[in-house]
Amino acid sequence: FLKGKTALVTGSTSGIGLGIARALAAEGANVMFNGFGDATAITKLQADVAKEFGIKTSYHNADMSQPTEIELMMRSAVEQFGGVDIVVNNAGIQHVANIEDFPVDKWDAVIAINLTSAFHTTRLALPRMKENNWGRIINIASAHGLVASAQKSAYVAAKHGLVGLTKVTALETAQTGITCNAICPGWVLTPLVQKQVDARALEGGISNEEAKRNLLAEKQPSGEFVTPEQLGALAVFMCSDAASQVRGVAWNMDGGWVAQ
Ligand code: NAD
Repeated sequence: FLKGKTALVTGSTSGIGLGIARALAAEGANVMFNGFGDATAITKLQADVAKEFGIKTSYHNADMSQPTEIELMMRSAVEQFGGVDIVVNNAGIQHVANIEDFPVDKWDAVIAINLTSAFHTTRLALPRMKENNWGRIINIASAHGLVASAQKSAYVAAKHGLVGLTKVTALETAQTGITCNAICPGWVLTPLVQKQVDARALEGGISNEEAKRNLLAEKQPSGEFVTPEQLGALAVFMCSDAASQVRGVAWNMDGGWVAQ
């Protein structure tokens, strides 16, 4: 049902972003990929997704911490597809440290990539969405957009900020065919989380499997990871007509994390 629409998914060369990009492609949307990685692997990814779902794909290597690069990417989307109908703000990084030890440059990078980049893509995508009176902006926040954990000051601040930006965007577009919502995943086993599992295994002298079990046991009552495919299905729902009055929500898919 998304045939003819174009989706930009930031940070879609891996993990959740890739899962969401594939889910939107499966509904017929053209996809602009973004994110870091090996150039040959990205070219192959683009070609494989285009072939599998019979859609057009492209890729832009904008560093989401750089506003001028985001502007170039948005301009490139206009040139290639006439603009963007669906924006999924997904690129994100994590850094774990106590506040007094938190490297200042890491704070700045987490805020720039996880929060400010969404302001830029949103402000640049809205004019065309308004022209068409249709658009979907989906911000990938986190359970950490709703509750906190120690040692994640920048991440928690950025994700709470992203939930706030989601609500303002929803209000400013409330009387249009554009909706803006946030998705708040719990633990998903992606490279971002595998790093945290590895750190636990090393610190505790425990196996990878045990580190995963401990990580889940602390926060996620289901004891199971959320998957990129499940998050993709929620993003597809948010793009549907059935979701046209879902506006400004921060929808957790978190195995029960924030119910506690
Ligand atoms: P990931 O590390 O697998 O993927 C992150 C993606 O962002 C990659 O494609 C990477 O290349 C890209 N990226 C990183 N820095 C970038 C930059 N400066 N410019 C452009 N692209 C950049 O991580 P993931 O777990 O898939 O995370 C995706 C999003 O989901 C993030 O916003 C993260 O905070 C959020 N999230 C993840 C989890 C989880 O458990 N994995 C939970 C809640 C929220």
